[in-house]
Amino acid sequence: MTLTEIENYFRHVLPRKDDQVFFLSQLLESVSLAREYSGAWSTTMLSDGFRLNVGQVEALSCTFKKVESAQKSCCQIELRILLAGDDCDLVFNLNPEFESMVAMNYASIGQSHWCYSFLFDALPSMSLESILNEVGGQIKRMAGLRRQYIDRASHTSIGKVRNKSNFAASHCPTLIEYAELICKVENKSTDGWYNGYSWKEREARLKEAHRLQKLGLLQHASGPCQLCGDPNAEVKYHDEDYSLPYLWGGIAAYALCLHCHIHKLHRRFSNRQLWLDFLAHVRRGGYASDLKNKKISKEFSQYRKAVASGEVFTLVSLRPYAQEIGQEWFSKLSTDPSSLRDPSARPRP
Ligand SMILES: [Zn+2]
Repeated sequence: MTLTEIENYFRHVLPRKDDQVFFLSQLLESVSLAREYSGAWSTTMLSDGFRLNVGQVEALSCTFKKVESAQKSCCQIELRILLAGDDCDLVFNLNPEFESMVAMNYASIGQSHWCYSFLFDALPSMSLESILNEVGGQIKRMAGLRRQYIDRASHTSIGKVRNKSNFAASHCPTLIEYAELICKVENKSTDGWYNGYSWKEREARLKEAHRLQKLGLLQHASGPCQLCGDPNAEVKYHDEDYSLPYLWGGIAAYALCLHCHIHKLHRRFSNRQLWLDFLAHVRRGGYASDLKNKKISKEFSQYRKAVASGEVFTLVSLRPYAQEIGQEWFSKLSTDPSSLRDPSARPRP
């Protein structure tokens, strides 16, 4: 489909631009997660909407169906977002008028997963603003579960990147182009950028790594996590250097556990203090996985509160810490968001 065809389609089903921004930004949000985890995703324009597949399964879809009857003529809008986590049917306060949570059963996900659905009959000329605000708030609360689902859908149980589904044959990059255009993320956004490398450059290296791994020429990442030191956590490569010719390992790539990688290292730009507090936890010999322990997590919260109010609080040592504080590779990482797109942030030209 061409950009104009897609534009015409969305104008027809969602005449208000803000409504288009709402649904398409949901798509972009999930796409940016899928990009973070793997290249195994595709977006498809359907006859009545669009769909994002990650690995073999649906991750998000949105449909617009005309309903014509003697009583009314409306557009039935459905947004489906897949989530992974326990008890999603109990955790959220859903509005039964237009929200539902249904348990799903995809073999590849390997943990409890759900479909959150927003289903609404929009009458012509009706403003969706307030209802979409409410739904948007709800979806924000589900962010961690949505991320977890996409991580699960991207990888096999032993951490290998999944193959794309049959939907990849109908992948529609123009849909992403239109979504970025309408949500105005083009050029301004740091989405996908890291250390002065664009997503395109990063993706090219990822693809090459997967190719070499398939051929057995490049080892999969193995532990311990090079940030928190956890010897038992599953690790994947985090790349710092995407310049050509590719360097593998050393200061170009680090094996990190999921928590250090996604929840801390990549979030250091948006939450610098959390990053610094987490490093303090690491330096007392703490693993990321220790924060699942209620007692440790409570102490860590107390530490964060104390730091925020300028008080002194010493975290209890959990294990000996072998590295020289301030000299670790991760202590030298920039937390300045402008570094994401800054060409001078590259370790090599
Ligand atoms: Zn870690």
